[in-house]
Amino acid sequence: MMDLLSRYTLIHETDQRVMAPEPVREEVLCLVHERRYIELLQSIGKEDTEFSMDMLGAGLGTEDNPAIPGIYDFCSAVTGGTVLGARLIDGGGARMVFNPLGGFHHAGADHAEGFCYINDLAVAIEELTRRGHRVAYIDIDVHFGNGVRDIFAARDDVLCISIHESGLSIYPWSGFVEDIGEGPGEGYTVNIPLLQGSDDAVFLYAFDAVVPPLIDSFRPDIVVATIGADTHRDDPLGHLNLTSMGYERAIRIIDRMSPKLLVAGGGGYNVYKTAALWTLAWAALCGIEPMDAYAGLIGGMMYGPEAQSGTLRDNPYVVSGNLKDQCMEYVRDMVAYLKYNVFPVHGIKGR
Ligand SMILES: [Zn+2]
Repeated sequence: MMDLLSRYTLIHETDQRVMAPEPVREEVLCLVHERRYIELLQSIGKEDTEFSMDMLGAGLGTEDNPAIPGIYDFCSAVTGGTVLGARLIDGGGARMVFNPLGGFHHAGADHAEGFCYINDLAVAIEELTRRGHRVAYIDIDVHFGNGVRDIFAARDDVLCISIHESGLSIYPWSGFVEDIGEGPGEGYTVNIPLLQGSDDAVFLYAFDAVVPPLIDSFRPDIVVATIGADTHRDDPLGHLNLTSMGYERAIRIIDRMSPKLLVAGGGGYNVYKTAALWTLAWAALCGIEPMDAYAGLIGGMMYGPEAQSGTLRDNPYVVSGNLKDQCMEYVRDMVAYLKYNVFPVHGIKGR
């Protein structure tokens, strides 16, 4: 991504800064994580540590979350980046901060899962709410942001919206539309599941119908977004069919709705495509157009993310026939459910 940003001259602006994160203090992690779990993470790789059932109970030492020496330091650096972003936005003069490495939205308060150990997003959101801010969380990663949802499900000061491939066909097998939060948080968890195969049109139909009205009425001070690129049709884990068109459009809507914006990368398992999409996202969020400084100079030589189409952007791709009908019908039901059950909580009249 950094290569592409410099190649497309997207990182030269005088109002941008590239900063290294400081590892976050343990006390900050404990804003959302249980101390016992943090201690287990810290013990990984220490000489006197033996693998224990406690670790396995906390999801550590599994296939998705191996007990890798140094994992605590890695997580504390990643979370430091997201928390630094929150602090730059709150009082540091920044309008938008992007931590591409952040976005570990599956980690729970007391356990690891789905490649995630520490929930950097939840830590940053919690810190922002303690500073008195209303925070809306928007998650467009292909996977349901279950970790963030669980941590804030019972609260009405954080609005959590996740649009994702349905749990019928992908991890974490949850995030259905009926889950709208708990207790005082009822109506503040919003899940928009999509059928596998859904393309830009299906995704944007749901996104447009649900997200802007909720953000308009919730009036967040700060939006925190996870922009995983695993919704792309070339992603090897997800089963959606988005192109750069749908992805970029969602990024632009998020940008327009957000007074201030903290962005984390999240997933993306086609590494070249992910780098290209995050580069496009950065350009959109900064309001600049990617300019290939070398276009025409290298004689058509293409590499990595550009090998397919010759640009950062994809050719159009549209799903049709039966599959498209099924995806559209499903998503219309989801939107109708949310308009009926969630919009009234926010005083939004049916549209
Ligand atoms: Zn993902």
